[in-house]
Amino acid sequence: MTGRKEGRGGFEGLDACVHCGFCLQACPTFLATGDESDSPRGRIELMRALERGDLPADDAALAFHLDRCLGCRGCEPVCPSGVQYGHGLEAARHQLAVARGVSRLARLALWALTTPRVSKVVYWFARRFRATGIPRRLAGWGRFRFGMGMLAATKPAVEGRRGRKKVGKASSFTALARPRPPSTALLFRGCVQQGLFSHVHDATKRTLSVNGYQVQEISGQVCCGALHAHAGLIDKARMMARVNVAAFGNGDEPIVVNSAGCGALMKEYGHLLGDDAGARFGARVRDVTELLAGDATRGPIAGAPLDLHVAYDPPCHLLHAQGVAVPPLKVFAAIPLLELVSVPGAAECCGSAGLFTLLEPEMSRAVLAVKIERLRAAAPQVVATGNPGCQMQIGAGLKAAGSAVAVRHPVELLDEAYRAAGRYE
Ligand code: SF4
Ligand code: SF4
Repeated sequence: MTGRKEGRGGFEGLDACVHCGFCLQACPTFLATGDESDSPRGRIELMRALERGDLPADDAALAFHLDRCLGCRGCEPVCPSGVQYGHGLEAARHQLAVARGVSRLARLALWALTTPRVSKVVYWFARRFRATGIPRRLAGWGRFRFGMGMLAATKPAVEGRRGRKKVGKASSFTALARPRPPSTALLFRGCVQQGLFSHVHDATKRTLSVNGYQVQEISGQVCCGALHAHAGLIDKARMMARVNVAAFGNGDEPIVVNSAGCGALMKEYGHLLGDDAGARFGARVRDVTELLAGDATRGPIAGAPLDLHVAYDPPCHLLHAQGVAVPPLKVFAAIPLLELVSVPGAAECCGSAGLFTLLEPEMSRAVLAVKIERLRAAAPQVVATGNPGCQMQIGAGLKAAGSAVAVRHPVELLDEAYRAAGRYE
């Protein structure tokens, strides 16, 4: 089958809701406002009314409360009825985008961040500006200063340390790997992750090589389409998904992703495209920590000790959307002396949520403020999280709050432990 299945576009995922309200306390926006219409249960009622035609897609109250949803899917794992909230939200946002269009700001951001020829220039300037150290000095609250903090938070930790050799590109090292024939994994590069976090790709390649994977580059791949899907631009997201399905081909090799937001959508290409090719592609997608963790009996090869107190902040799109909870913990367990610091509410959204931080700054900061307060109380040396949006959002929040704590991807820490253990030549 190659064509897209016709149906209710995702609204059917809401049918199971029995209004029990178990999801309310898991919803950061409900916790921020206390308004039922800002809760999953309230929004499900709004979305059902939209599907039935009882509320038009340009209804101001409907749009207001759906726009304020982070799409974090924190409501899904706590729901005893198995409501697929994310699918319903995607369908509703598509209807809203058709009825009222997508804001100019969202279109501009999507154009700048995901259009290959444009974004290449944008990211080049951003990296040059980042290197001046000015964004770090300007970081703070307020729209402009928060943006500066987000950019500053993308800076590679190792590059900035004095007295250390700059880490080479992943292509310029040899990993001392497990003595077994290497498996192949295909690297997904993405847009923001490639433009501002290529050091995470390098760490991904190095750490996977130590653990017996030969990581291959795939040409012709594009942005995963997640930012477009969240904005309601489903047709554009499908177009990108089809390009990626064609680029990665029909093989069985796993497709490794180190950005939770991308991985969550790519695992659901079957739902997005409604065809078998999308479903086959989705079944091959693995978060980098899943590949590193391996099967139930083993974790990653151990690195050298790092005497660090680390607060792990699981990205919503890894924990809630992909259900990946244990593999990142196995990555940390492979680093002797590393101690995980417990932070209350770590599984709650940081307020980043793709373009949400840009489009709904007030709600985004309200959600973030709670997290930053808890992180500061826990006083870790490093915050670890596996999604570029979360790294930027939490990093900017910490900087604005006057904290020097760095935010890093879990594979960056494993990479550092491997380097210290002499696992790279
Ligand atoms: S979404 Fe699930 S948890 Fe929330 S009210 Fe509906 S059935 Fe209950
Ligand atoms: S996706 Fe997140 S913000 Fe939206 S209703 Fe669910 S828990 Fe609340």
